[in-house]
Amino acid sequence: MHSPLKNIKLSKSKELFNNAQKYLVKGVNSPVRYFKPYPFFVERAKDCYLFDVDGNKYIDYCLAYGPMVLGHGNPNIIKAVEEQLELGISYGCPTENEVILAKEIVKRMPCAEMVRFVSSGTESTMGAIRLARGITGKNKIIKFDGAYHGSHDYVLVKSGSGALTHGVPNSPGIPEETTKNTILVPFNNEDAVKRAILENKDEISCIILEPVMGNIGCIPPKEGYLEFLREITIENDIILIFDEVITGFRLSPGGAQEYYGVTPDLATIGKILGGGFPIGAIVGRKDIMENLSPNGPIYQAGTFNGNPISIAAGIATLKNLNDEFYNKTFKSSKKISEFIKECADKNNIPNQVHNIGSMFQIYFNSDEVKDYESAKRSDTERFMKYFYGLLDRGVFIAPSQFECCFTSIKHDNDVVDLTLNAIEEVFKGL
Ligand SMILES: *Cc1c(COP(=O)(O)O)cnc(C)c1O
Repeated sequence: MHSPLKNIKLSKSKELFNNAQKYLVKGVNSPVRYFKPYPFFVERAKDCYLFDVDGNKYIDYCLAYGPMVLGHGNPNIIKAVEEQLELGISYGCPTENEVILAKEIVKRMPCAEMVRFVSSGTESTMGAIRLARGITGKNKIIKFDGAYHGSHDYVLVKSGSGALTHGVPNSPGIPEETTKNTILVPFNNEDAVKRAILENKDEISCIILEPVMGNIGCIPPKEGYLEFLREITIENDIILIFDEVITGFRLSPGGAQEYYGVTPDLATIGKILGGGFPIGAIVGRKDIMENLSPNGPIYQAGTFNGNPISIAAGIATLKNLNDEFYNKTFKSSKKISEFIKECADKNNIPNQVHNIGSMFQIYFNSDEVKDYESAKRSDTERFMKYFYGLLDRGVFIAPSQFECCFTSIKHDNDVVDLTLNAIEEVFKGL
């Protein structure tokens, strides 16, 4: 494939990619980062911009797939990390900062009474599911089609994100013995959940969901759906887990659970929590959390759990998530979303534009998008045309219909206006 880009040149990136391919599979270390014919290679980032090795500059709506909500190179995060570097990088011993950050989470998140820090979102959902299985003594879990909870075996079934983009929602290498305990249901569907619970009476340990699906574009729960899940899980002794790796601290200080007023038993967080450094956490009710080792029998461990650098970055990040942050990021997302819709309508392009808080995405689809099946019917070819058109005009969004766009505090009015110009131009050629 020749590069569809006309305005920008990626000669150094091309060279780097050719070399990278010799040593790294398809030149990348995570599937979503690859797109045809080759991705641009980043040299540095500042505020809302990425700068590539060829000297191109992009307004960044991918934000490292979510964490960089204060923009790149936030001085408070850098300062906190620099100070911590001087004090030590990793100890394998407890620190006061872990308590400080845990307390900040507990203060914000309705379900959070206790916290276990891990190193990634993947580890957080793996640990939360094990915890649910361990204390209920039941093996099965309910997961929604198209939901992405990281790349471990329990949940990589009909998964979203790169798994869907690259056509392998069910990965080879995962034993049927593992996934036979993962029951799949369509999102936003009450009957399917009722049926799954009935058919697996007393065998289901937990329901895990992204309260707003963010790895298949952006799909909010329909009204009353989270409440329904809360009630049915209480009635059936099932642990309710909100995977808030994307929505945590993003939709409100307390995440989607605060935004929608529905409190799960456990939640998993990550991304924003580390301000760009690797982190994850399992949070939830004390009586459940206390079953984790070394207090209880359910094992979870990690050399880098509570890593001082990630924790310092996390503390600095949460300090900056004030009212202004939510107002600004919500407003810019709304403005862009409304404009996308306007442009699509004006050019008679079938569209469903979804926006919630600072998350947004357009589906090139004439019908309502409410779950995996309806999202999959979108015109992904047109989406990629839209993606390349924006990239060619210096706007970077995730290279997939099945990812979500985000705004940071650094996407100010001028940046948004530049973005709108690019969007308007792109739609004329779709
Ligand atoms: C990104 C993501 C994960 C996995 O987090 P990693 O840090 O990439 O392991 C899990 N759940 C959701 C909802 C995510 O968006």
